[in-house]
Amino acid sequence: MKKGVDIGGTFIKVFWEDGRREKHYIKDMSRDRSAFLERIREIAFEGNPESVGVAVAGFTSKDGLVYRSPNVPALDGVNLREVLEGLNVKVVNDVSAGAFGEWLYDHKNSKVLLFVAIGTGLGGGLVVEGKPFLGACGSSLELGHHTIKLDGEVCSCGRRGCWEAYCSSYGLERFYHKLTGEKLKDFDIVRRAEGGEDAALRAVEEFRKHLLIGLMNAVHILNPDRLVLGGGLVEAMKGFLGGLEEELRSMCETLPGLCFSISFSTCAEYCMARGALALTYLDDV
Ligand SMILES: [Zn+2]
Repeated sequence: MKKGVDIGGTFIKVFWEDGRREKHYIKDMSRDRSAFLERIREIAFEGNPESVGVAVAGFTSKDGLVYRSPNVPALDGVNLREVLEGLNVKVVNDVSAGAFGEWLYDHKNSKVLLFVAIGTGLGGGLVVEGKPFLGACGSSLELGHHTIKLDGEVCSCGRRGCWEAYCSSYGLERFYHKLTGEKLKDFDIVRRAEGGEDAALRAVEEFRKHLLIGLMNAVHILNPDRLVLGGGLVEAMKGFLGGLEEELRSMCETLPGLCFSISFSTCAEYCMARGALALTYLDDV
């Protein structure tokens, strides 16, 4: 039996071939690196799987080395293939894995699928003709860190004006804070917007405007036929994202604008683990 494992900052999620799902809380543990890596080993080996796909948030090379993981700093500089020695394993960036899962399970007719996941951060993944596009080193589709505003807001990566600096949990929280002076968590802002609060609605509208700019850039660069939006924040804000496809089309050049359809991901919090499982069916990742 194969399985996918998604290593995040708070949970390790597991998605088995037979559909079983597991969630292991690891936040307290991730400060002690050796205990954390031992726990990853235990979870990956558990059930004696024939192969394991591993999705990890961060800049991850094709040979399994996590160069930098802003959300799981305990993995910085760790080679997960070495940690999981003895196991038949594939290691890929989490949103790249998620994108392949979207293609394999839900959109197999797509030639060029772009997956954009928005939560704590913003990540992208691309599948071209049924193959994940990982770039030369494994770090393609860092869409969250393409600049949409010169000298703009500070991003988690340390640069300014990145797409993620606007379209992420902290981006939304910053919009709201600038409007009201109040510090509020992302889901609370969405709840207030649902309740009709003016400032929350304006913050959500700012988020939406910036989302469209980044998507327009991505459509012009990549010419996808399927755009899938996912991640916890997109899921929470779905009620405010109606009409996105038509609006985006009107902003894009006619030819690439004609090609794409937008879908919302349906696999919720197990997207990346499901994508990691999907990777185990590929020979050359
Ligand atoms: Zn950035």
